[in-house]
Amino acid sequence: MKAKAYAAHTPKSALAPWEIHRRDPGAEDVRIDILYCGVCHSDLHTARNEWKNTIYPSVPGHEIVGRVTQVGSSVKNFKVGDLAGVGCMVDSCGHCHSCHDSEEQYCDNGFTGTYNGPVYGGENTYGGYSQSIVVKESFVLKIKHEEKDLASVAPLLCAGITTYSPLRYWGAGPGKKVGIAGLGGLGHMGVKIAHAMGAHVTLFTTSLAKVEDGKRLGADNVCISTDKRQMAAHANQLDFILNTVAAAHNLDAYLQLLKRDGTMVLVGAPAEPHPSPGVFNLILKRRQLAGSLIGGIRETQEMLDFCAQHKIVSDIEIIPMDYINTAYERMLKSDVKYRFVIDMSTLH
Ligand code: NAP
Ligand code: ZN
Repeated sequence: MKAKAYAAHTPKSALAPWEIHRRDPGAEDVRIDILYCGVCHSDLHTARNEWKNTIYPSVPGHEIVGRVTQVGSSVKNFKVGDLAGVGCMVDSCGHCHSCHDSEEQYCDNGFTGTYNGPVYGGENTYGGYSQSIVVKESFVLKIKHEEKDLASVAPLLCAGITTYSPLRYWGAGPGKKVGIAGLGGLGHMGVKIAHAMGAHVTLFTTSLAKVEDGKRLGADNVCISTDKRQMAAHANQLDFILNTVAAAHNLDAYLQLLKRDGTMVLVGAPAEPHPSPGVFNLILKRRQLAGSLIGGIRETQEMLDFCAQHKIVSDIEIIPMDYINTAYERMLKSDVKYRFVIDMSTLH
């Protein structure tokens, strides 16, 4: 079946209307009409080939929510008319130890990305900046939020799980002091989720204009990360830092805020490498620097259910499809509170 979409054809060209082919659903597949798709900074990194791995034409979008319009003969958990979500992955090998643990994002044989995804050769995958998608049932998520919140649920499929997973893994909760660096799409979900988990949350932002919002979103403290004096006041205080910053920066400024045995996890994936951190900031307090990639399918469902239960959604600005190029420019200026979401009914 044909589907209208928006694609980048080169690293420098604006995204523009294009038409893609979606496969007919096989026995295990679900076809979804896409209602809303969030705009992740990874979409921009990919559309512009900033990670040097883009296959063109590229149709980004991995924060997908929509309605099921067709199911294959062996699909058990979805029926026509259900709401459904798709995040960053649409397949994985299914037999390695990570897949067995439902940590498909760490699949030994490489997971298949919702866009830019082929790992075993074959055709490119096209993401959510399109009218419909066909996905294996085991990679489709159930949405339990109220339908009126659907647009604000879309960003949970990437920004939500990418922050929930490390917060859970490193035990954010009552009695833990958690720092969130960067108040963008990921960071604002990190603040909300860490607060809901019961942690004491400090937000680190470069944007003076976001201080009040930080508190509204659930931060107990807000620190301007470019102000050395404010940063010094947090030295050796934090158990855990979730670093969502989308640009290369000095990691030492954050590492020295960790307590002994504290961990900073990088989820931000800038195009340029961070300057290598000074070893003494790690050695002297046995601090750890780690990374984390989205989250597995089982944990993504757990996150969606946790957010539904705690009434957590994303703060969004809904845009029409043809606004996407302007949205990218604004995202680069941190000028969005806090996630653009495309209303797919505007894709004609
Ligand atoms: P975003 O909405 O653009 O937010 C990034 C935030 O980083 C900005 O709001 C800003 O926060 C801060 N920032 C940006 N440029 C900065 C600079 N030059 N210096 C200091 N701070 C800067 O992006 P996002 O969608 O949240 O994504 C964040 C990063 O995570 C991207 O690199 C994305 O590709 C990556 N990502 C990784 C995963 C994963 O699985 N690991 C998943 C999704 C996305 P303030 O204004 O508060 O300073
Ligand atoms: Zn993303």
